[in-house]
Amino acid sequence: MNQSYETLKTYLERVYAIDAAIRLFEWDCETLAPKGGAENTAKIIGSLCSQYQEALIHPNLQQLVDSLKSGEGLTEAQKAVVRETGITIDKLKAVPAREYEEYSALKARAGRIWAQSRKMKDFEQYAPTLKNIISFQKKFAGYRTQEGQSLYETMIQDYEPGFDLKMLDEFFLKLKDNLVPLLKKVTESKKVIDNSFLTGDFDPEKQRQLADWLVGYLNMDGERSVLAVSEHPFTTSIHNRDVRITTHFTHNLTSSVYSVIHEAGHGLYELGIQDDLAMTLAGDGASMGMHESQSRFFENIVGKNRAFLGPVFEKICQLFPDQMKGITLEQFWEGVNKVEPGPIRIEADELTYSLHILIRYELEKSLIDGDLSVEELPEEWNKKYREYLLVDPVDDGVGVLQDVHWSQGDFGYFPSYALGNAFGAQLYHHMCRELDFEGLLKAGNLEVMIQYLRTRLHQYGKMKTSLSLIREITGEEFNPIYYIQYLNDKYKNLYWES
Ligand code: ZN
Repeated sequence: MNQSYETLKTYLERVYAIDAAIRLFEWDCETLAPKGGAENTAKIIGSLCSQYQEALIHPNLQQLVDSLKSGEGLTEAQKAVVRETGITIDKLKAVPAREYEEYSALKARAGRIWAQSRKMKDFEQYAPTLKNIISFQKKFAGYRTQEGQSLYETMIQDYEPGFDLKMLDEFFLKLKDNLVPLLKKVTESKKVIDNSFLTGDFDPEKQRQLADWLVGYLNMDGERSVLAVSEHPFTTSIHNRDVRITTHFTHNLTSSVYSVIHEAGHGLYELGIQDDLAMTLAGDGASMGMHESQSRFFENIVGKNRAFLGPVFEKICQLFPDQMKGITLEQFWEGVNKVEPGPIRIEADELTYSLHILIRYELEKSLIDGDLSVEELPEEWNKKYREYLLVDPVDDGVGVLQDVHWSQGDFGYFPSYALGNAFGAQLYHHMCRELDFEGLLKAGNLEVMIQYLRTRLHQYGKMKTSLSLIREITGEEFNPIYYIQYLNDKYKNLYWES
């Protein structure tokens, strides 16, 4: 046993305890906490965040990490813990404390100003704040940018280590060249799909029963996970034995169903992380994109597959016999897969989703590395929506103001969503060579698939990058062609061959 590593582990457990408390408070704020307590609780969270940062940049921790950097006598998991701790410390230390404080206060204000501007559909009110956020973000990235790297590339690598701008340019160009024409073809198809039966009056109590049933059906371990309700669905992992997901109940039945399946995908990833990594900075998903690959794999590739829907539709018919009267499994499958281009990203169908991301990628790149000004943003936004998605946002509330990300300084985050779709499709392609995918889904057997992902992907946490995981699992480099093929096959089947 390596003594220095044991000391590091003990120290990290204390640091992690603060982080876990922050996560629990954040979880509580979104689910059960009374609204009236929000302001005081925000102060508590703020104080915990400062304590967390202080603990991480403590000289003792830096010394320990330095003494272990050679990796001598450490297991692969331990090396990953040392590496990830070092990366986090470097990131925190790069920004002067005074600037960070100023920025945190700006972010708190920005959240409120953004929400207000979105409500008023008034971009001008928000523009000065957004400009401020962008200049802080550029400054912070500048502290860390390596030679030959652009600021936007530095930002991207916080979410997707290993990806450079050239790779992303090629990736998004491929999506544009293939998905824009595919969408056009789908919208011109004569096929009419009715999905009106998915909206209406669905008793929240029964929706809850369905959500609980789905969580079990997806093999989420009931001893180590829990499902709650929040306005916007999300997943929190306190550690690999306490994983929490949420859903919401609306007039749209599939909104809750696919939120549960999406978040369960994130949850299964967190539950699968090995114990050696738990409660350390390496005990998380490999990257944002890889995490999204798991949620989207379950939501779309599994969840919208006809074979999977058989037993699910049966359950839905039991719970909502009136609403499903006269509806067949075939109609249900078509209904949940209907393509409907619209202005809102979070309501997008499987085909148009990545086009929403393409637009954000192009705009972020021009805002950070290019010469697009904040003033020009709404017009550019709408222009791209008309061109790629064939829709015209009626105002900035459903246009450039719709996402919270930029107000929180999250530039470089969006590409991960589209990468996740592509990772998932490549993993799926490979999985089908080894497993009887459809047969397992038909039989309601999800465990074989989950085991496949757990042993090859989930357990490794941050030990491997997304690119190396794809390479090791599939025996090939990352290639978005599988995603494009998957979408082409799916919509051909749905829109002009059925
Ligand atoms: Zn997600």
